[in-house]
This record gives sequence, C-alpha cells and structure tokens, in this order.
Amino acid sequence: GTPVLQVTGLTKHFPVRGRRGAVVHAVDGVDLTLHRGEVLALVGESGSGKSTIARLLAQLMPRTAGTLELHGTDATVRRRRGFRAYVRRVQMIFQDPFGSLNPVHTVRYTLSRSVRIHQGRGLRGAELDAALRTLLDRVRLSPTERYIDKFPHELSGGQRQRVAIARALAADPEVLLADEPISMLDVSIRLGILNLLQDLRDRLDIAILYITHDIASARYFADRTAVMYAGRVVETGDSESVTQDPKHPYTQLLIRSAPDPDDLEARARGARGEAPSLVDPPAGCRFNPRCPFATDLCRTETPELIDVADGRGVACWGYSDRADRPRLGDVLDA
Ligand code: ATP
Ligand code: MG
Repeated sequence: GTPVLQVTGLTKHFPVRGRRGAVVHAVDGVDLTLHRGEVLALVGESGSGKSTIARLLAQLMPRTAGTLELHGTDATVRRRRGFRAYVRRVQMIFQDPFGSLNPVHTVRYTLSRSVRIHQGRGLRGAELDAALRTLLDRVRLSPTERYIDKFPHELSGGQRQRVAIARALAADPEVLLADEPISMLDVSIRLGILNLLQDLRDRLDIAILYITHDIASARYFADRTAVMYAGRVVETGDSESVTQDPKHPYTQLLIRSAPDPDDLEARARGARGEAPSLVDPPAGCRFNPRCPFATDLCRTETPELIDVADGRGVACWGYSDRADRPRLGDVLDA
C-alpha cells in the first residue's frame, strides 16, 4: 500500500513538577508508518505511551522531537499548508464517548458544526441535511430522524461513539486515530464498533491507528501490530505472526502470562512485573530489569528494531549478530 502517515523519531518528554530538569520519558524515538486503508494496532500496557502518541499524531500537543508527514509532506510547521491539511485529514476518536461529545449539544448541532468547518461554512438547508444523513448512515445510525435531535445523555455509549466517529468522518479523513475506542463500552457492543471501523476502512480506504491494551483484539482487528514498552516500540509485524509467534521477550510475556482470552482484566494489567520508572528509565533496553535473558549489553546499549523476517522488526539484542548478545529461551521457563 501507499504510505499515508509517516512518523519518525517521535519523542515526548514531560517536565516533572517540582523536580527541576527531570522529565518523564513518555515516548522516545518512535517510528511508525500507516498505509492507505490499513489498520495498525498499537499495543502496550498502561503507561507505555500509547495515548501520548495519539495526542502527538493529532497534534494536540507539541512534540519534544520527531517528524510527521502526510503523503510525504511535512506537517509540523503550524503556519504552513501541510499542517492544515494534516489536522483535517488525521482525525481522532477518543476512549470516552461521554467526555468527547458536548452534553449541551444535540447530534444535529455537533455534526453540523463539523460539516461546516470541513465541507463549507455556507452549507445549510437541504444540502446540510443530506450531509448529516450521509454521516449518520455511514455509522449505521438510521433512520436519521431517530437520532438527529438527541442529546448525548439520550444515547447509549455505543451510539455516542458512533456520533463521535461520524463527526470525524465529516472531515473526510485519511487517518483515524482510535485511542481505546471500545474499552469503556459494554462488552456486548464492542464488536459492533470494531466492525464499523473495519467497514469504514474497507469502503473509504481510511487508515486506522487502533490503540489497545488487548493484544488479542489486535489479532482480530488489525493488519499489523506494533508493541510498545515504556515509550518505545519493541516489536512490529503482521498481527497474525506477532501474536502467534512473538519474538521479543516482552511480547512473549504479554501473550503467555494471560493465556485466558476472556481474562480482560489480567490482560489489561499486563505482563507480570513492574513497569519501569519513566523519569529515570533503565539504561540500554528498557525491558532489561524484567527480562530473564538480559546481559551487560542489554543493560548498557539501546537495541534498535532489527529485521528478523519478512516485515518483522524486533528491538532485542538477542536477534543481533553481536558476539555478546543474550541467548534467548522460553520466557516462562526462565
Ligand atoms: P493507558 O493504557 O493507561 O491509557 P498509555 O499507554 O496511554 O496508558 P500515556 O497516557 O501515554 O500511556 O502515558 C505515558 C506516560 O506519560 C505515563 O508515565 C504518564 O504518567 C505520562 N504522562 C502522560 N501525560 C502526561 C502529562 N500531561 N504530564 C506528565 N506526564 C504525563
Ligand atoms: Mg491511554
């Protein structure tokens, strides 16, 4: 596919209040590429930097470092045209559909506002009604009359999330950033929202960054998966092989320590062991304090993503050709 969104060296350091010069290394040197019509899952445990990446990609806050390109055009300079095209074409869907819709506005108001911003200030009357109907049809809220004059509190969580998706679609996006779009919804309606997103990808060729705790849902929903640990991407590849044949010791732990696919709680907690401090992150590989195979090399030098197979990248010294590399074994036996 054609690359739509390209991210290199994305970094975010938050200052720590009351500790001069100290920073939270929330995201450190992340590279990502989203292709046309592709679903890329960004998976990692709580605090690994997923939402920070989403907010950086939506340009909702400044980066510490890194470049963002839409179709090869730099989008990081606010006054340039590339920036305006980018913030229109890259749209965000939030985790909490209650928080993201203004409670005092009807569906009509929320969607009309977005349509006017993105499709023309002068749009009104029958033309506007037709645009609203199209949007609600796209997210399968029909007939339009049943939903259009409702307030958020009159809708279910799933319906609210559909309105939030419709609002994003008004911009005719090429990329949707979906930060845990189903985690706050009732289990029974989660699949419906994922199927809707997949359908939008199929029909509109939209690329989706699907952020989740749940690596099992990544396998079901995403073409490719990137696994994050402590602000860095540690493994990438097609979702099937990352989940069936994980290479990085962290990914292996993540998958194998919660073998029950229905135990969402355990999967949300993540792999056993503590996540490292992001204020003073471990030197070298950030996973080294929890890794059963770590050597001095892992404790001193940072591994980059190494190509281990077709489209598979693993940031682990165990896959390098260094003589002093760690010898990997089974994470659960070790
Ligand atoms: P979760 O799965 O719980 O949503 P996440 O992977 O989305 O976690 P982030 O919210 O991106 O993680 O947070 C990454 C790190 O950055 C955490 O250590 C968090 O405490 C820190 N962080 C996030 N936002 C800020 C902020 N505004 N100021 C300071 N630190 C922040
Ligand atoms: Mg988050």
